[in-house]
Amino acid sequence: MQKYIIMGVQGSGKGTQAKLLQDDYELVHISVGDIFRWNVQNYTKLGARIKRMIAAGQLVPDDVVAEVVKSRLEQHDWNYGFVLDGFPRNHTQAEFFLESYDIDAVILIDVPDEVVSARILARRLCSACGLDYNLIYHRPSTPGICDVCQGRLVSRSDDTPEVVRARIDDYHTKTQPIIDLFRRKELVVVADGTRPALAVQQQIRDMLALDRPITAAAHTKNGSSGGALVMAPAGPSGTVMQLR
Ligand code: AMP
Repeated sequence: MQKYIIMGVQGSGKGTQAKLLQDDYELVHISVGDIFRWNVQNYTKLGARIKRMIAAGQLVPDDVVAEVVKSRLEQHDWNYGFVLDGFPRNHTQAEFFLESYDIDAVILIDVPDEVVSARILARRLCSACGLDYNLIYHRPSTPGICDVCQGRLVSRSDDTPEVVRARIDDYHTKTQPIIDLFRRKELVVVADGTRPALAVQQQIRDMLALDRPITAAAHTKNGSSGGALVMAPAGPSGTVMQLR
């Protein structure tokens, strides 16, 4: 079993890399941001509570985050392990996590701020099927229209220049120190996130000494962007699942 945390400033490609690891090694990709967005889109009680914070790019309170992560991991659907994406984001969250779980490595995707900022502002999402696009390197054939379902492409409400700046600043002030904490524990491997997605993935595999993928069909099926991520309805405990 492999348990990883993937870190990097928003737009570094950590979600893409986590999905590739999920496809290739059957690791469960747990994206805290996706869980929050699902709750907002589905008008849950939690969604109502966090909606404004998400739209403003502010961090959700630590107790809420801890509860969401704890209940997600308690589903124990991660037989081969997991890749935790978007968590921990500050010292309190790192301490909570390390008290209860051990991890094998922290994968840090390194990309300069100006590169991630341009990438984030070019992100688009299909409002109907949720497929991700990027106007820099994964454009739709018809501008503004999803290639797969013809849905309308929209920006995430938190992908505005002001919010992006706030998220990058937050990352440097709050998240960078916990990378130093993980470094002291010799858990961090650093990948060059300015390279194409599959080259970054290869570098990660080499650094973690991962064997050949156990599910070879994954790349041809989804392409390097990792395919659509669809959040299924919550179970009775209020936890959510990720389905293809
Ligand atoms: P992301 O998709 O990782 O960019 O997350 C989107 C938004 O969800 C962030 O801007 C925060 O508002 C919230 N969020 C995600 N993960 C966390 C976390 N670990 N702690 C606090 N807020 C979070």
